[in-house]
Amino acid sequence: MRKGYIQVYTGDGKGKTTAALGLALRAAGAGLKVFIGQFIKKRRCSEHKALERFKGLITVKQYGTGFVRKAENREQRAEPKAIEAAEKGFADVKKALLSGQYDMVILDEINIAVHYGLLGANDALKLLDKKPVETELILTGRYADEKLIKKADLVTEMREIKHYFKKGVKARKGIEY
Ligand code: ATP
Ligand code: MG
Repeated sequence: MRKGYIQVYTGDGKGKTTAALGLALRAAGAGLKVFIGQFIKKRRCSEHKALERFKGLITVKQYGTGFVRKAENREQRAEPKAIEAAEKGFADVKKALLSGQYDMVILDEINIAVHYGLLGANDALKLLDKKPVETELILTGRYADEKLIKKADLVTEMREIKHYFKKGVKARKGIEY
């Protein structure tokens, strides 16, 4: 049995979710089983359609309610449903991770869910501690919590040098979603 590590993809540049999807693709090619849990997002993206071709190897679930705003505390949240969805998602990914059924578990946008107060940083940290030794765990999203960064074995920061969004280029199907 080989050891799995904890990877974090964070920062303000494009490529965090794509990096995780790339890892899933590579893992599936090696016959590894992958679980992808996506926080925040509720939109069906092109990758979901593509991943249907990897049934049995890659499982994807979404737990988002869409865009959320940062709130001072959980009580002030304008989107109580977002907390509910994130908590349900957290319970679900925990089950998937602890089942030991998956060689790779990807928690897409979990950093955002923590940053926006939908999930507790300490709860996320505790989950990292419970990771089965052989499972590779990938966390993505801007504003990764310092505690999670400290715990991880690999941390990559995508730094925006340029982004065409600033020139007014809207998200494109097949490129951004
Ligand atoms: P991708 O899914 O393309 O790999 P990402 O996961 O790095 O991007 P997120 O922070 O999840 O980026 O951003 C959500 C959306 O905003 C995506 O459509 C992404 O392509 C786009 N995006 C990423 N970085 C920037 C940026 N610096 N400015 C504007 N839009 C961005
Ligand atoms: Mg992303």
